[in-house]
Amino acid sequence: MWFDKTSEEVLKELDTNPNEGLSSEEAKKRLEKYGENKLSSKSKKTIFQIFFSQLKDPMIFILIAAAIISAFMGEISDSIIILVVIFINGIVGTIQEFRSEKAMEALKELSTPKAVVKRDGDLKEIPSEEVVPGDIVILDAGRYTPADLRLIESANLKIEESALTGESVPSSKDASISFHDENIPLGDQKNMAFASTLATYGRGVGIVASTGMDTEIGKIARMLDESESELTPLQKKLAELSKILGIVAIAICALIFIISVIQKRDLFEMFLTAISLAVAAIPEGLPAIVSIVLAIGVQRMIKENAIIRKLPAVETLGAVNIICSDKTGTLTQNKMTVTKFYTYDSLKPINDLDLSNGSYKLLLDNIMLCNDATYNENSKTGDPTEIALLEVGVKFNILKNELEASSVRVNEVPFDSDRKLMSTMNKYDKNYIVYTKGAIDSLLKITNKINIDGHIQDLTEDIKTKIMKASNDMSDDALRVLGSAYKELDSSDIPVGDIEKDLIFIGLVGMIDPPRLEVKDSIATCKQSGIRTIMITGDHKNTAFAIAKELGIAENYDETISGTDLDKLSQDELNTKIDSLKVFARVSPEHKVNIVKAFKSKGNIVSMTGDGVNDAPSLKTADIGVAMGITGTDVAKGASDMILTDDNFSTIVSAIKEGRNIFNNIKKSIIFLLSCNLGEIIALFVAILLNWDTPLKPIHILWVNLITDTLPALSLGVDPGDENVMDNPPRNPKESLFAGGSSIYLILNGILIGVLTLIAFRYGEKVYGTGEHAQTMAFVVLSVSQLFHSFNMRHPKKSIFKIGIFSNKYLVGALIVGIFLQYIVITVPFLANLFNVFNLTIYDWTFVIGISLITIVLNEIAKIFMRMKSNKQQI
Ligand code: ATP
Repeated sequence: MWFDKTSEEVLKELDTNPNEGLSSEEAKKRLEKYGENKLSSKSKKTIFQIFFSQLKDPMIFILIAAAIISAFMGEISDSIIILVVIFINGIVGTIQEFRSEKAMEALKELSTPKAVVKRDGDLKEIPSEEVVPGDIVILDAGRYTPADLRLIESANLKIEESALTGESVPSSKDASISFHDENIPLGDQKNMAFASTLATYGRGVGIVASTGMDTEIGKIARMLDESESELTPLQKKLAELSKILGIVAIAICALIFIISVIQKRDLFEMFLTAISLAVAAIPEGLPAIVSIVLAIGVQRMIKENAIIRKLPAVETLGAVNIICSDKTGTLTQNKMTVTKFYTYDSLKPINDLDLSNGSYKLLLDNIMLCNDATYNENSKTGDPTEIALLEVGVKFNILKNELEASSVRVNEVPFDSDRKLMSTMNKYDKNYIVYTKGAIDSLLKITNKINIDGHIQDLTEDIKTKIMKASNDMSDDALRVLGSAYKELDSSDIPVGDIEKDLIFIGLVGMIDPPRLEVKDSIATCKQSGIRTIMITGDHKNTAFAIAKELGIAENYDETISGTDLDKLSQDELNTKIDSLKVFARVSPEHKVNIVKAFKSKGNIVSMTGDGVNDAPSLKTADIGVAMGITGTDVAKGASDMILTDDNFSTIVSAIKEGRNIFNNIKKSIIFLLSCNLGEIIALFVAILLNWDTPLKPIHILWVNLITDTLPALSLGVDPGDENVMDNPPRNPKESLFAGGSSIYLILNGILIGVLTLIAFRYGEKVYGTGEHAQTMAFVVLSVSQLFHSFNMRHPKKSIFKIGIFSNKYLVGALIVGIFLQYIVITVPFLANLFNVFNLTIYDWTFVIGISLITIVLNEIAKIFMRMKSNKQQI
């Protein structure tokens, strides 16, 4: 029990110093002793379990039945080959599943919360798993509690404990309470913060009492594994498509079988053929290929600083046509420097801040004491706006802790982006001073006096207008403006609600936050590819517009709207107006939801960024919620689909580009596999309809389908991105996979592959007269023409010679391996026997390769026409 001890007792028992925290060495020792701070997760599937789960597929059952029947009929070689095919299929599936599971695990690790602890006297952000008993942990709004803490400090701290108690209303915490009764329910232990609960307001400091499975949540052993594997819309559609195709394929196979019976063919042989064809035609490998391509794509995105939290996001990214972005830190560098300050009635460079002037000193004390950042030689932590304010002090050799020595903070109202204000109450020798800083419009609403050179006067409308003018002048120069005010009190005993009332205005400071250099190009890229960039910021309208103009987001001031004006519009009015707006200034997180809704009402696919606790609803409402990895709170990250590890706008654009390429690659693999399957069906179906001998043996079909097909399909899935992918408008998410001529393309190529196979067969029959020789030629043409066809798939219009034959080395590898395997099967006597094939002559090889190349030639010619057509359309 920890709650019934005083904080001194806990500190003593856990041997910790609240000011210094643990030393790194001690923390390391404790980590070894207590283990990592995590809940033991459910046991993972072993590789054997994954392998056997691959075999639980109806198609595999059919194959196993076929193998058994073949064995009974004495066709041992057939049944061996079928078993080998089952085995290889299982191995390929296992590797695929293993890889994508590994990728998802790595992702989970990347997006686990971090904790702020005091170590060696400095504040550090470390992975939650490294937190050990005795650590001093800092909690602030938006952060998950990493372990069970006994609070030693709390400032209006509220914690949402629903994960533990089921109670969704945040409970107020108080470090100073001590209990003398052992039977206090968890929900009432006000001096404790429990692992996995969420700070929603205020600030607190606590000592880690227990970690990992020793925590309250660990005891309940409730798993936090929310991100169960989720199917993407495409995967769902594919699963449906596979079902339909499966039924069609079985119907065709049954038809082939019935026709063969009528034609009095060898029943057993035709039975196996029908089964093989069904296995070949049902695209059972598609979902696996899609998930591995998605997994590999997600890995690629990590390298570009985007962590995908939910798989469907990859597909949606490709369809995004509106990016709503925060300004500070995402479009700008978040490296603030104070350049100007204002006291009534003069605006001056910050270097002119003469500390012998009482008002100037008061302004400096205000911005340094009403401040949660820390600044020393070794580390700067906190909000960049606040660090910039501490740096003003450093410029004049004043450090925050020196000021704090004579003015202890006794109360505070933390900053939040709805109020846009922050206040502290500091205790001096004889009195107390409330320091408040924040957005000028919010601040003026709660001030009624002004300090002019040490004289307190009423804040008249005239003075207010002058202050607003100074603030607007700074904003027009793209400066971020903060105002400050104060009041003196005799006693600290006032309600929290009265702290921010009747204040005295002191002055303003203006800081620059330069735009990120690369962002301008990214915004231009977006424009060109039909994506609109929208700036959403808590900052002042003029500052926002100045930066938006510089970055190419907006051109006219009319395209800007402020939160106050937004409040005057109904959702319907906003929906009507939304298309003419590019910059939303002085907005609070609640407005963000309405903005997303308005854009979505026009059928747009919207991405929205966010970092604060209150941003969670808008991140959830958006099609793609993007959380900031550096400045984002755990809540924002938890609500998002994607996290930017560098908080950079350009990363969103790279992710969209990657998303488009991944979608295109998946489409290539799918269309490729389906056209190959169709080719196989056509070859057999036509031959049987025309009462020819069967051109392919069942095992040939299985071999081509399961061995030669899979490698090219996977290689297409990892095709290098098309550099011109951002020249096109975003994909319409409602559009089917087979839109834009893809279905005709698929059917024509299926017919082509089928026909080429039949030509090779008839030619073989005519020249050699033996069924086996002719079947071998058909077998080779079927597999080699498919291998060649995979190269056609790389771009619907661009010639393969323009893209570069060797630019996808995996595909080249797949081609070489495919042809090599085909060669081996035909030339190695043992295998040739199994497959019932004939060793082709050099002349035959030239013929079959030549005829297979027709797929490339015809497709290249078709592409010339397609290019001519699209050029004409452009003119
Ligand atoms: P964005 O939403 O683009 O990140 P932002 O950072 O400007 O914009 P907020 O952090 O919500 O948005 O800040 C809004 C306003 O609140 C700022 O313009 C500033 O005037 C004020 N402000 C920001 N940080 C603080 C702070 N730490 N203390 C007091 N006021 C602040």
